[in-house]
Amino acid sequence: MKEISELQRTAQSQQHCFLIAEDNLIDIEIVRAHLQEAYSGQFTLDSVDSVAGARLALSKKHYSALILDMNLPGHHQDQDIIDLCESCYETPVIILTGETDPAIAIDSLKVGAQDFLTKNSITPQILARSLRYAQERKKIELALRNSVADIADRNEQLKNLVHTDHLTKLANRAHFENALEETIYKAQRAKQKFALLYLDLNNFKKVNDNFGHSVGDELLKQVAYRLQETVRSSDFIARIGGDEFIIFTDFLQETAEIYQLLDRVKKTFNSAFIIDNKEIQTQPSIGVAFYPQADTSEMLLKHADFAMYEGKELRSDSGSVCFYTKEMECKYDRRLQLEAQLDTALEQDEFCAHFQKITSLQHNDTLIFEALLRWNSSKLGAVSPAEFIPIFENSPVINQLTKIVLKQAKELITKMAALDQTVTSIKVNVTASQLSNSQFCNMFLSWLQNEELLPNVICIELTESQVVKNTESCLLQIKQLRAAGVKVAIDDFGAGYSSLQYLLDFNVDYLKLDISLIRGIDEQKRSQALVAGIIEMGHRLDMKIVAEGVETEAEYLCCKQLNCDMIQGYFFHKPQSITDIIAAYKTTVDTSNKHSNLILEHSLHSNISAV
Ligand code: C2E
Ligand code: MG
Ligand code: MG
Repeated sequence: MKEISELQRTAQSQQHCFLIAEDNLIDIEIVRAHLQEAYSGQFTLDSVDSVAGARLALSKKHYSALILDMNLPGHHQDQDIIDLCESCYETPVIILTGETDPAIAIDSLKVGAQDFLTKNSITPQILARSLRYAQERKKIELALRNSVADIADRNEQLKNLVHTDHLTKLANRAHFENALEETIYKAQRAKQKFALLYLDLNNFKKVNDNFGHSVGDELLKQVAYRLQETVRSSDFIARIGGDEFIIFTDFLQETAEIYQLLDRVKKTFNSAFIIDNKEIQTQPSIGVAFYPQADTSEMLLKHADFAMYEGKELRSDSGSVCFYTKEMECKYDRRLQLEAQLDTALEQDEFCAHFQKITSLQHNDTLIFEALLRWNSSKLGAVSPAEFIPIFENSPVINQLTKIVLKQAKELITKMAALDQTVTSIKVNVTASQLSNSQFCNMFLSWLQNEELLPNVICIELTESQVVKNTESCLLQIKQLRAAGVKVAIDDFGAGYSSLQYLLDFNVDYLKLDISLIRGIDEQKRSQALVAGIIEMGHRLDMKIVAEGVETEAEYLCCKQLNCDMIQGYFFHKPQSITDIIAAYKTTVDTSNKHSNLILEHSLHSNISAV
């Protein structure tokens, strides 16, 4: 009775509306009577006699509960009830049956009902309790279902976060890796090919350094946007880190199809990016690899990375597209080998400088050398500076190498002085990457000071290609070095870089003609005309001209005739170790006490003919 009175109180504040699906009118009336007692008349009860009728009624009106006869005629037991229970989104369902088998109760709960009553056991209390229980259970189910939906939503958001690059909103590395695996799998089954582009922005670090990281971020966003607009929706694009983007294409019929995409990608960089009212120009280095030449995701990425890296090395100033080749990989492996040996090399003093004498055609009394690094690796044998300098030039170790050269320059000067030979000048090669450090001049002067070297005995050599690429950064450092007395030479002049403007911007002391201009010059009238012009121009700009790589007498005589100031090359001298130079001078000094410089050269090198 207590239970009923509680229900009565509740019923007063709340009108209940029930639906009964039952084909037996007597059973309906029995239920109505029980409800009457349980809810003190505060309810309505609609009735239908079929599952279809119940579905229709439920679609039109909200009910507090559905009381459903399990044995309605014409329905297919479980499936109909399952469907009905599913369509009762917010309405609890109580199954009514004449049977007492507990298995039926369990089954009915399984199919989606909230409670189960046998007709012959119903009392007002039992019905009331069952209705209340079913309603509560439904509420819990709904809450659970909503929270599951919430979790699914959150999972979706999480999935997006996990798969999306937060800055550009492109796919991130993890997503890219999965997508690439999937594409490889599909391509393998369909025997198709596709291309992978590895794209990196040139000089992105400079944008960050010069304008700050927020401008750098904005640039990445704009690049991402332009790239996304450029690729087809069937291509996949991702940002996999820093300024590195990946595009892999849909299946290609012909490898050549890639050129269209490359063209479009390159064009997206034609116009400047406007950020904070600043115009920022950037170009990409793009490496391209193909499936199935590379048939795993790691290989594809590695190949494209090699190609991108190669393009960057060749043309870091402007954009480049480079297709993977096997040679790149060998080069890369070699690079890793050299890098792995670097620490040992420094610890075991494997680096030393050799010195190549430069002959002045006007002044016999000058003693000028170029210092050239040598690496005799205990593991790799002799490694050429032309190979290891480009590898180490962007790492701090390059400064250590310059210090080694300066130390040995001092040693040579001291040992020559002990033989009464005054070294006039030593030329030391430095890289533009060193000069791009705003502190380079100060550092260099302090290294000279440590070695007790006078600035005016040292001449730094910078290759033309590097100077052209880094004009602004080098300019200031060169000015400061020259103001301190250090001489400056442009090395390898004429080796394919054609901008002459920088010769006006850079005030330098020497132009060293590249070996390619000198080789066979005696037989080539056009080369002679070109070199004569360069010499004339250099002299007018107050520079001394050095011919590099002179190997034959004919080349030497030709350079002399064209008015070159100095000659460097195997014809006169090869680069030699300090020990060899000193030994040769000692012998010469001992045998003929005071000979002219010219005669000294003759005695040093048997290959010399008349000078
Ligand atoms: P470079 O500064 O232009 O040096 C001249 C190169 O030509 C040297 O090669 C020299 O041995 C070679 N050479 C001289 N005369 C002849 C000749 O008659 N015929 C031929 N075929 N070659 C000749 P090396 O010593 O192999 O050096 C290669 C390059 O490595 C140098 O070119 C320079 O750019 C770089 N390098 C060498 N030492 C250093 C260094 O201490 N620092 C930096 N940054 N670079 C260095
Ligand atoms: Mg040089
Ligand atoms: Mg050179």
